[in-house]
Amino acid sequence: MVYCARCGRKYPGDTKIWRCSCKGELEYQSQYTYSIPPPERLTLRPHSIWRYREALPHLEDEDIVSLGEGCTPIVTAKWKGFPVWFKLDFLCPTGSYKDRGSSVMISRLKQMGITSIVEDSSGNAGASVAAYAARAGMECRIFVASHTSPAKLAQIRAYGAKIKAVDGTRQDVAEACQRSVEEDPRGETLYASHNWNPFFLEGMKTLAYEIWEQCERSKIMPDWVVVPAGYGSCALGAYRGFRDLLNQGRLSHLPRLVIVQAENCAPIYQAYLHGETQVTPIRGGKTVAEGIACSSPVRGSQVLAAARESGGFIMAVSEEEIDSAAISLAREGLFVEPTSAVVAAALGRLIDSGTIAKNDVALGILTGIGLKTGYYYEGRS
Ligand SMILES: *Cc1c(COP(=O)(O)O)cnc(C)c1O
Ligand SMILES: [Zn+2]
Repeated sequence: MVYCARCGRKYPGDTKIWRCSCKGELEYQSQYTYSIPPPERLTLRPHSIWRYREALPHLEDEDIVSLGEGCTPIVTAKWKGFPVWFKLDFLCPTGSYKDRGSSVMISRLKQMGITSIVEDSSGNAGASVAAYAARAGMECRIFVASHTSPAKLAQIRAYGAKIKAVDGTRQDVAEACQRSVEEDPRGETLYASHNWNPFFLEGMKTLAYEIWEQCERSKIMPDWVVVPAGYGSCALGAYRGFRDLLNQGRLSHLPRLVIVQAENCAPIYQAYLHGETQVTPIRGGKTVAEGIACSSPVRGSQVLAAARESGGFIMAVSEEEIDSAAISLAREGLFVEPTSAVVAAALGRLIDSGTIAKNDVALGILTGIGLKTGYYYEGRS
């Protein structure tokens, strides 16, 4: 079943609408109860997010569209003299963590018999959706801002998707894409939005399941989990996954979630700062963190609640901090796009301020590979 987070209206699970008639966002509710198997049973499972299959929407084997996403390593690194952990989610098949969500969303659309989709993206989600659509034999069109990184565009095209470039902000791109769905004369194309589709978010829960499974072996759970946020799929997916594990008695408490935005475009942080429970859209400024430059998040209030309920908070980092963190990460052998460096920048500030204490274990999620924004590092030494 799918229901509206705003007004509670219920829809069948295979509804083709992308939002409620009240314009609210949709949520998925499984009719099954599930329990996540213990690590010793998981070891025998496929090396992908589908090892947590009972916690994902119910699908037949032939509907699962997978490229081996997830199961990414956690490595330790020295950061400001502190040992921290990084989860290398940029090692997913298309170079960003979005493959977790795309695999579940596209599998679900395949099960529904969908053959044509559109999506809007700052680049990585477009590449990810295009890859899984190719794998599923779906026609795919991606709306992007005309200033999107060329390597991301090349990647989207290589997967066989069509690109529609829009002049304007991230929000203008989303609206152009939504208009194209509403005006589609055939009415056969589905808006497969990673920000709106509730099944995408279901896939993101695997981020938390994996961290738990990997850490169970050493019996050391992170005290802090630091994630970037634009629309908040990483933040919400991690939160919901950890909450699942808590409800099932597999965790004793939630790790504190630190949700990081870029200062120049930080509507969720602004709301947090003012003690709000809703996010007011802003006019965002320019940031090198192109993957999180979102001025009007779809599930902003839920992101705020996730930070608070986990005992964590929302923060914003400056362009200078992002730049310096990106270079320092590379010097640790971790080549990520500037968007992902916000996490390392936040860790740096939290270590400097003593918020993260000496014996705390802090884990940052590194979301996007550096190769697609290689130009950013050109001439830097
Ligand atoms: C999409 C993206 C994010 C942010 O995801 P949201 O769901 O918008 O919060 C972070 N990092 C990278 C590399 C991304 O591509
Ligand atoms: Zn509604």
